[in-house]
Amino acid sequence: MTGTLTIAGLGPGSEALVTPEVSAALASATDILGYAPYVARVAPREGLTLHPSDNREELQRATDALRLASEGHHVVVVSSGDPGVFAMASAVFEALEASPQWRDLSIRVLPGVTAMLAAAARIGAPLGHDFCAINLSDNLKPWATIEKRLRLAAEADFTIAIYNPRSVSRADGFARALEILKDFGCSERLVIFARSISTPDETIETVILRDARPEMADMKTLVIVGNSATRRFGRWVYAPRHER
Ligand code: SAH
Repeated sequence: MTGTLTIAGLGPGSEALVTPEVSAALASATDILGYAPYVARVAPREGLTLHPSDNREELQRATDALRLASEGHHVVVVSSGDPGVFAMASAVFEALEASPQWRDLSIRVLPGVTAMLAAAARIGAPLGHDFCAINLSDNLKPWATIEKRLRLAAEADFTIAIYNPRSVSRADGFARALEILKDFGCSERLVIFARSISTPDETIETVILRDARPEMADMKTLVIVGNSATRRFGRWVYAPRHER
């Protein structure tokens, strides 16, 4: 088997945030697989086949990628941001574990700039102290698990990065998340709404949690809820390095 499988992160949107390592992998690929809007970020060229698919087809896509690589293709599976953060790398390993015949394939995971890092850099340093990341989509886990993690993250005074704040299957999920955080005494915390960071549509807005409205977030938004020490001055938001 001389094919290869690379799982690569394209970063949050800007060409400048695609790593040289990922660019090189795309340049030598024969096949690109991924959710259609991400595949659309790869320029077509001769010798390259693009395989866009729906975002609910992750395991099938991962299996297709493994099969193509086993047939000798140089396959790149693309994710936005980092491929290991709520993205395709896990799906590929799930598919690989279920298909022992492909265990000896040459596989690499190439990191990318995940949305929370791009958003944090834009606004200052809100992740400068302990933080966690929660995927608010309940497509792949029960909503009760999400609620529990939110409550415990608030209790532990973590800064919380929220991915997929508006789930397709549960449009009111983010509203409930805000209520849970209010119930835990987080009403005065700073909340950052970072939308389409590093693209021409980028917007970023900071409010106090008490004033946060569910409509301020959509699927292109990364939400960062500060911890009790997170501060704002001028246009910057940061978490101080010392907690007393
Ligand atoms: N693997 C990706 C995350 C996929 S989940 C990563 O590492 O970034 C998709 C979620 O990521 C979106 O719902 C949104 O919350 C966030 N996201 C992705 N790109 C973004 C961007 N450019 N600006 C703001 N949020 C973004």
